Amino acid sequence: MRQHRLASRTLALLLALVIAAPQFALARYEPKERKNAFSREEEIKVGQQAAAEVMQQMPILPENDPLTKYIQKLGAKLVAKAPGEKWPYSFRVVNQKEINAFALPGGPMFVNVGTIQAADNEAQLAGVMGHEISHVVMRHATASATSKMKWQAPLSILGAVLGSKGGALAQAAQLGIGFGVNSVFLKYSRDAETEADLVGTDILYDAGFDPKQMAVFFEKLAAEGGGRGPEFLSSHPNPGNRMQRVQQEVASLQPRTYAKNSSDFKSAKQRAMNANPLTAQQIADQAKQGAYKNQVPGGTQVPAGGVPSSSGIQPSNNFKTLNGGAFDISYPENWAANQGQNAAVLISPEGGAQGNQIAYGVMIDSYTPQTANSLNDATQQLLSSLMQQNQGLKQAGSPQSIRVNGQPGMSVELLGQSPLQNNGQQVRERDWLVTIDRGDGTLNYMVFISPEPDFSSLRPTFEKMLRSFKVRSQ
Ligand code: ZN
Repeated sequence: MRQHRLASRTLALLLALVIAAPQFALARYEPKERKNAFSREEEIKVGQQAAAEVMQQMPILPENDPLTKYIQKLGAKLVAKAPGEKWPYSFRVVNQKEINAFALPGGPMFVNVGTIQAADNEAQLAGVMGHEISHVVMRHATASATSKMKWQAPLSILGAVLGSKGGALAQAAQLGIGFGVNSVFLKYSRDAETEADLVGTDILYDAGFDPKQMAVFFEKLAAEGGGRGPEFLSSHPNPGNRMQRVQQEVASLQPRTYAKNSSDFKSAKQRAMNANPLTAQQIADQAKQGAYKNQVPGGTQVPAGGVPSSSGIQPSNNFKTLNGGAFDISYPENWAANQGQNAAVLISPEGGAQGNQIAYGVMIDSYTPQTANSLNDATQQLLSSLMQQNQGLKQAGSPQSIRVNGQPGMSVELLGQSPLQNNGQQVRERDWLVTIDRGDGTLNYMVFISPEPDFSSLRPTFEKMLRSFKVRSQ
């Protein structure tokens, strides 16, 4: 009798488990699979390249700072619950006042001091980070780049992009696609936002944080409006019904109790409140002066170097062709073509450019003059706008007429200041501007950039690139 009762209780328990298990599994949100041309290795590589750029452009707290340690600990707790493929996550704190956080493909994440200041509780901070981890899990940035590549790629390389998983990185570089801090691919669609909220909800729940606090925090940012929130909200637009969706997702999970603020959170918050982080404007000004140029992962500073030995920038004699967009150009195969911060395309040797600081390289872009009667007129307008953006840039001589592959063009040299220093002295820079009439009222232009001492040795390479330049009619 007794035995029988025990057996039936065990059976009931087993049955309950059998019934409960699939429900539990189903309760986790399953994001839809997006087309992605990037292999896992490429995903990690583009993210690490972008992270290295961030390290050169922003004030990053040292690796051993207590705020860094805390964010790394909280990040590890969340990552342990992230679904799907495992990525090499890393966490750093930006000494910036505005509320922001961003994650790069393959896992590098950056959280502003201002975000720690603004979080009313640990679940809100975990909410922002869980949401970012979800963008990494779903590879939203490279998926969005993949769909852009599909539209932009000329037919010849489209096959390579979509046909082989291995070639996306090279193709993305050819199309000038980058994942740096201001990349359009880190500005998410509303669909992606909803997915990140739902996957984020599951991560937070599993890690013991109240997922509703994520939605509360986002709503708080939106309510602050013109204050400190917009930087985050411009990359993570409100998909609408945020709170409602999060609550629905929570309702599909077993009720549970959530963690209270840890003592680590309390001391991190205290520390952040006492800190005096920099504003975005201060950071931009300091970055322009090269303040973060030598910041390296690990938080230690390396001494400012002189002009790099020419071996690092030495162009190969073998050229490859960048085709796509409004023009074709060939360039040394050991240099790279990327989306520039101030130009459509930036072709530069490794280490030749960091963000908008270009020591060695070629900027290529188009320009539409106001009203110009001649190519000379249009070139003068472009010159004054370039000199306005770049104080200290001076014309060396007047523009000369040239022909570039049969198209009328103008050529003029400029002198400026290189971002490089030599024994604490700013190095002089020589820039060569070439404009090309596209025949439709617009120009293409190229600025060949080099420190003055290296310009003459690079000139033959620059000339060879210019001779390869062909306007594409669109
Ligand atoms: Zn988002």
